[in-house]
Amino acid sequence: MEKEFTSLIDQIKDYSPKANVEKIKKAWEFAKMAHTGQKRLSGEDFVFHPLRVATILATWKMDSTSIIAAFLHDTIEDGGARREDIVREFGEEVATLVDGVTKVTGLRLKGSRQEQFVENLRKMLLVMAKDLRVVFIKLADRLHNMRTLDSLPKESQLGNSMETLEIYAPLAERLGVGKVKGELEDLAFPYAYPDEYKKVKDMVDDYFKKTSAELDIETMRKAILSKLIKAGIKAEVQGRKKHLYSLWRKLLRPENDWDLAKVNDIMALRVFVPEITDCYVALGIIHNTYKPVPSIGISDYIAQPKPNGYRSIHTKVFGPKGKIIEFQVRTFQMHEEAEYGLAAHWSYSEVKGTGVSGDKLEKIETAGDKLSWVRQLISWQHELADTDEFINALKFDGLKHRNFIFSPMGDVYDLPVDATPVDFAYMVHTKLGNFIQGAKVDGRIVPLDYKLKSGQVVEILTSKNAKKPNAHWLEFVATNMARREINKQLNKIDKG
Ligand code: MN
Repeated sequence: MEKEFTSLIDQIKDYSPKANVEKIKKAWEFAKMAHTGQKRLSGEDFVFHPLRVATILATWKMDSTSIIAAFLHDTIEDGGARREDIVREFGEEVATLVDGVTKVTGLRLKGSRQEQFVENLRKMLLVMAKDLRVVFIKLADRLHNMRTLDSLPKESQLGNSMETLEIYAPLAERLGVGKVKGELEDLAFPYAYPDEYKKVKDMVDDYFKKTSAELDIETMRKAILSKLIKAGIKAEVQGRKKHLYSLWRKLLRPENDWDLAKVNDIMALRVFVPEITDCYVALGIIHNTYKPVPSIGISDYIAQPKPNGYRSIHTKVFGPKGKIIEFQVRTFQMHEEAEYGLAAHWSYSEVKGTGVSGDKLEKIETAGDKLSWVRQLISWQHELADTDEFINALKFDGLKHRNFIFSPMGDVYDLPVDATPVDFAYMVHTKLGNFIQGAKVDGRIVPLDYKLKSGQVVEILTSKNAKKPNAHWLEFVATNMARREINKQLNKIDKG
């Protein structure tokens, strides 16, 4: 275990010489303390989980703050730690990230009704949008949970896999973290659709057994690589097999109709070069060696990047025996961005020492391409929930003017901006309002006229018996519902 931690530290120092190693070590000790004696369902010590989540983030070259938050991400929820401990030991920024991950985890998406699902999803995205790093920590957390899904009961396997396919994989794609999207989908596929998975897997195994596809690819790889080297370009060329899940989606399309021969990117070749101009030289070399397929031709996503920022040149050529093979040409940096998306920008800025910290959305937007997280978010939600109400809420209300308040159980309530714990109580249940004794916000006692802020967790402390609402509450409540209920109760009691 300690060995694994030490090599993680080496890995971090490697991409980020300025990383705060002392604080990362402290976070590791903190996590071990908080999870003492706890096991995962696999029988493994719990603390391996945060360690591996942190390691995933390190492969994405995330900043020290994210790594620290990864170590701590389950210490409140599952360990014995309190928020104030984290604030004291690691500061508010880390605590805020841990909060974000905890809240997202608490949101119930699995098995909820359609409307509820969409609502919770929207709210989840809002929490994450406050600091993009929450998304990456959550994705890493999900990735490790999916890698260890084996030891969970069958029901959870199915639930988690569906949620992964419906939420986390598309989220990874939207963020341009292509590598994570592919892995998440392939991990979920066998649990979510076991029969279809088996069918596709058998087809592909059979295909590679019967054809010389793998050999052909290797021949092509060597041919192109040696020509690039001769042209003086320090290139790398890799062969890659298509992910099974996305192959399945492709086979389902009517024009392919389960015919593997019609899918021409079961295997593809990737060419990595140092400079953008090298990409076009490489394209020339490829077309000189293998005839391009006339009708499907070239897509130049370098000249015209995809909406999620993806850049590459794709071309389909006739390989040996006339088989159509796809080439993808990109610079090393484009590749890193395609695999790790915005995560790559965090590392660039840390290396450069610009010190991106906190919820600096604008900084990310200027960090490289002009990818606007909020625009992404909104366009994604459009696809997911094409209900009038939903779109209107986004268009007219604007997200800023809404207050999303969480119950300790992870349920989310939509409240107006000046709402107080009393409004919240009546929103949860009219009866809860009649038992109000006090309120806690994010674990701290607050006065009842406290103005709630989006993202806060509110717990209503109740008295044993129903009691008369205070007439004074009418001066500060913000919702009609609370006002009506308070008046109703006051009248009732007056009448005796
Ligand atoms: Mn976790």
